[in-house]
Amino acid sequence: MKIAVAKGDGIGPEIMDTVLHIFEAAGVPLTYEFVEMGKWVFDKGFSTGMTPEAQQTIERLGILFKGPMETPKGKGVKSINVTARKVWNTYANKRVFQSLHGVDTVFSKAGIPIRLTILRENIEDTYGGIEHMLTGDVAVSRRMITRPGCMQFLRYCFDMASKQGARRITCAHKANIMKLTDGLFLDCFNEIATEYPHLKADDIIVDDLAMKLVIKPHEFDVICLTNLQGDIVSDLCAGLVGGLGFAPSANIGDAISIFEAVHGTAPDIAGKHIANPTSLLLSGLMMLRHLGIWEQAATIENALLHTLEQGVHTGDFGDKTTAPVMTPEFAAAIISNF
Ligand code: NAD
Repeated sequence: MKIAVAKGDGIGPEIMDTVLHIFEAAGVPLTYEFVEMGKWVFDKGFSTGMTPEAQQTIERLGILFKGPMETPKGKGVKSINVTARKVWNTYANKRVFQSLHGVDTVFSKAGIPIRLTILRENIEDTYGGIEHMLTGDVAVSRRMITRPGCMQFLRYCFDMASKQGARRITCAHKANIMKLTDGLFLDCFNEIATEYPHLKADDIIVDDLAMKLVIKPHEFDVICLTNLQGDIVSDLCAGLVGGLGFAPSANIGDAISIFEAVHGTAPDIAGKHIANPTSLLLSGLMMLRHLGIWEQAATIENALLHTLEQGVHTGDFGDKTTAPVMTPEFAAAIISNF
């Protein structure tokens, strides 16, 4: 099976090479077609940040595994990450946050394991960027929530929750205030819930959710949110399990899915070979499972967990008890634990 790979900018090539090296050592049955995408492609004059050949390859192969990418600063330039999600209608963003042994958090120290799946609608809401100045002092932003957009996304959520045997699926919203937009999202959720009577479906106001996630995150399982609220809540959940370095991400569409790390290009440490590849590796594991490559995904995941438990860490962990290792040593430790 072949997939498209874009290494990205900054630390992207270092962590992507590391993850592909681990895949190779584990015997992952994938081949790769490398595509031109990223800041350097903007600089070559392609306004979407990718070449037409890259777009054709991704559309032909259906799966893009990507490193973080930098969007050039300045008015009129759209984020390549947002463009990719829109061009290929990857309408659901899935992030899985789980406690990892060896990554200390307040919950791991209290013996409370966390496993949360955050599903964020990926296309609509204020992310259309439809904004204008009404007067010199008044800025207006339009928020678009559509019934087809909600139904497409929420159907995926219920289907996924059902397949993974979720104990609860929760809709988070602000329908008490935004009665039309969030109200429509909640109505669609309740409508689809009737088709899945075996799933415990409920809803919660998003600010209440934020408070409860910090106090008792283990009570939740799958949570569905609109785009902006989902963006904020997913970073909160990353904090619960140790930070963005431990959070994988998938952008799921019907024809194309994109798997990527959630952090950025880390320009301050690029080229130093000290970056933590865990987020990209976990995203790669989500991709392997999406493609049905279960055995190698389990081998790599177990080795990663064991490595973290052994105290083998890159410098970003904040762990002062063991000296940090460089990215290649971290990968070698994972491979030695297969
Ligand atoms: P960042 O995530 O790149 O960096 C924030 C801090 O976290 C830095 O100190 C960095 O060194 C550290 N860090 C990030 N990832 C790390 C890793 N794997 N290992 C060790 N340390 C890590 O955020 P930023 O500085 O705000 O953004 C830099 C660039 O990345 C911007 O151009 C932004 O647009 C882009 N970005 C891209 C994506 C994406 O491609 N999905 C996401 C976010 C930001």
